[in-house]
Amino acid sequence: MTANLLDLDLDGLSVFCERLGEKRYRATQLFRWIHQKGASSFDQMSDLAKSLRQKLITSARIEGLQVISQHISADGTIKWLFDVGDGNAVESVFIPEEDRGTLCVSSQAGCAVGCRFCSTGHQGFSRNLGTGEIVAQLWFAEFFLRQHLGRSDRVITNVVMMGMGEPLQNYNALIPALRVMLDDHGYGLSRRRLTVSTSGVAPMMDRLAQDCPVALAVSLHAPNDPLRDNLVPLNRKYPIAELLDACSRYLKHAPRDFITFEYCMLDGVNDQPEHARQLVGLVRQHAEGGVWCKFNLIPFNPFPESGLRRSPNARVQGFAKILLDAGIVTTVRKTRGEDIDAACGQLAGDVRDRTRVEERMARQRKLLQPMMPLQGSTEEI
Ligand code: SAH
Ligand code: SF4
Repeated sequence: MTANLLDLDLDGLSVFCERLGEKRYRATQLFRWIHQKGASSFDQMSDLAKSLRQKLITSARIEGLQVISQHISADGTIKWLFDVGDGNAVESVFIPEEDRGTLCVSSQAGCAVGCRFCSTGHQGFSRNLGTGEIVAQLWFAEFFLRQHLGRSDRVITNVVMMGMGEPLQNYNALIPALRVMLDDHGYGLSRRRLTVSTSGVAPMMDRLAQDCPVALAVSLHAPNDPLRDNLVPLNRKYPIAELLDACSRYLKHAPRDFITFEYCMLDGVNDQPEHARQLVGLVRQHAEGGVWCKFNLIPFNPFPESGLRRSPNARVQGFAKILLDAGIVTTVRKTRGEDIDAACGQLAGDVRDRTRVEERMARQRKLLQPMMPLQGSTEEI
């Protein structure tokens, strides 16, 4: 089996080139062809010697993921469903805004954490994605969008690891993928524009701080352990105090001087004024240790099996006000792509709609063009 070059960061590709008897700098050329020009065949790489191209053809390939479906929301959000084999599929979501384009990327098919309010969690865990499968989501989306928008500059300026799966439970594949995204010869994202979101795998947060300190979002969802145990089962292993300690340590390495706490607002479950006051207490308690944070309240996106409801808007606003009055920066996430089930927590890798993919793709391609320039915002205070 040939090596899939999407699996390799620049160091890995350099080692690969050396093994082929080539100079290391050839790897940079190759890497740029793949990640800056979107090349998928070696024939395209006109500035590489023919002999090298020949070697590459016999020993390597550049293989992305098969697109099963593409949906475009009325608000310009685009969701792709990718085939990862054995009946599994993962989703990526592109969220256009005036001043940036964000891609939400999956790290696993399914998820083992099993949060009660998350559609991916309900589906259970299938398998980890490989580095190449994580990178392929960005590779596809970036070059698809460039082509269809007729642009030559970068379309995707931000990546959030907030799709399906718990990225810190797929650490070994995640790190090289992040490196490809950060590399100046790759996608050139700054560490502030690349966010890993975690349900709180505390020891892995320490490793991330050492290996690849990108922006961090932590899915908190509850202000006390009994409630969090129930909503995010991983809390039984890494309870809130331990999680917040890990956040304090992370801040010393973080590219931003705050950590974002995500908090999904569930009607009658975690959305009472008392919960907000408990959060204020938690943050104050840890403030001396240095947890500087921002809260992002996410209105719950319902899905059939959850048995949960979204908090009414007034309650979300009231909750936000308690945090804001206590001096905590708080935003309420504006839901995007709800009409195509692309909102947070609605990604389930549903493969029921495999049929007539080509037909739908053609129709959606036509739709894409007039949709730009892109407008809107995912966040508002
Ligand atoms: N596993 C990681 C990243 C993927 S989930 C994590 O949990 O952080 C990305 C974000 O969407 C998390 O904050 C998650 O809690 C939130 N989320 C999950 N299901 C949701 C739902 N149904 N409605 C709103 N937000 C949800
Ligand atoms: Fe997994 Fe995150 Fe969903 Fe929890 S919220 S089940 S950690 S993907």
